[in-house]
Amino acid sequence: MLTAAVPAFAQYQQQTIYRGSVLHFVADPATSQNPYEYYEDGALLVGSDGKVKAIGPASTIISSNYQAQVIDYSGRLIMPGFIDSHVHYPQTEMIGSFGQQLLEWLNTYTFPTEKQFSDKTYAKGVAKTFLNELMRNGTTTALVFGTVHPQSVDALFEEAQTRNMRIIAGKVMMDRNAPSWLLDTPATSYADSKALIQRWHKNGRALYAVTPRFAPTSTAAQLTEAGRLLQEYPDVYMHTHLSENKGEIAWVQELFPSSNGYLDVYNSFGLSRKRSVYAHGVHLRDDEFASLAQTQSAVAFCPTSNLFLGSGLFDLQKAEDYGVHVGLGTDVGAGTSFSALQTMNEAYKVIQLHKAYAEDPSTREPLTALKAYYLATLGAAKALDLDNKIGSFKVGNEADFIVVNPNATDLLKFRMQRATSIVDKLFVLQTLGDDRAIEKTYLMGKRQTVTTGTTGGYNYDYGYN
Ligand SMILES: [Zn+2]
Repeated sequence: MLTAAVPAFAQYQQQTIYRGSVLHFVADPATSQNPYEYYEDGALLVGSDGKVKAIGPASTIISSNYQAQVIDYSGRLIMPGFIDSHVHYPQTEMIGSFGQQLLEWLNTYTFPTEKQFSDKTYAKGVAKTFLNELMRNGTTTALVFGTVHPQSVDALFEEAQTRNMRIIAGKVMMDRNAPSWLLDTPATSYADSKALIQRWHKNGRALYAVTPRFAPTSTAAQLTEAGRLLQEYPDVYMHTHLSENKGEIAWVQELFPSSNGYLDVYNSFGLSRKRSVYAHGVHLRDDEFASLAQTQSAVAFCPTSNLFLGSGLFDLQKAEDYGVHVGLGTDVGAGTSFSALQTMNEAYKVIQLHKAYAEDPSTREPLTALKAYYLATLGAAKALDLDNKIGSFKVGNEADFIVVNPNATDLLKFRMQRATSIVDKLFVLQTLGDDRAIEKTYLMGKRQTVTTGTTGGYNYDYGYN
């Protein structure tokens, strides 16, 4: 096939320098004395390939790259985009549903909502709204649940691809204990997931996650098929829920009577390994933390969801002690905000309550701002085995980044006058900030404009650029 010749000048895109206060993490603040790099008058150099070329003091970066275009964000914070380690895009429209805990909540709100995603056009509309919300909140990568319908995943990946966004997602596998109109079978879930893997995994920035909803909604035969997919495609993800709610844990024991607890069910089907991400893990036993560390599985800590559904308090300190990788997740729609900042805010409170209820409160440390931002960036990237691509400004990483205004609201501006260090500022920002503080979101060095979304006939434009 003939292709039109592209003029040489159109292929040429110069490097770009983004000047501002540049912050990123290089290590876990829980274990490192020097976990972050910060340049108050700093610069981020991005190549025409959308990758990070350098960071450093603005004077150094500008003088050694005199040919590069400079975009001045002085007074703003430039940091890697947030990573949401667990979220359900089909539940965007049921965020803030009243009055239930996990199992009733699924039956009352979730399953009827998810039924609508058999219609791909409908799914596309919600996917657009969902991705717009991620962009508006500075979230540049997410690990996402679809519904049981393969077309729900096609819709999300197609929308993500138009933005060149790194999304990990999968079709829910669910063959029992849900309404019949939402069930697949072991055979169809295997075949549909396999076709989606072949269509989407590593297609552009898309990555696939084998996604059994949770042990209660899959038969042993279906979990066997999930394990088979992981064997056949070793570099895909596994994404499910674990030990969120006490009633759920008891139910899992009834359904799998010979298992030694909840995690053992997944382990016995070969579902725990690197790139396996378990949402919640609120009620894990010590031996289960040890097992997660040993298999290099990760946990998504979802504080707004755990508080909203009354599920319980995730023990971050224990996860750290055992060396389990943890990322921060919103778990929308049980979670109550798309904002990573608000998720950090609630995470801080969860850890405060841990101290209040601890047998010996002196053994409990508060969640520092550094650790909170780490969990939403580099920590999540490590949990997702993507730290060589995203989560920090390491040279060669994909330049997914955000421009944050620490003075975005009157109250932030007023309060920031008293914040003396970058660490103080970060803590105030996570406590008082939300999407209003996220001024710009870039994917692979390209600024994203959230334009018109259409869901339920409602048109809107965030006017965001
Ligand atoms: Zn969830």
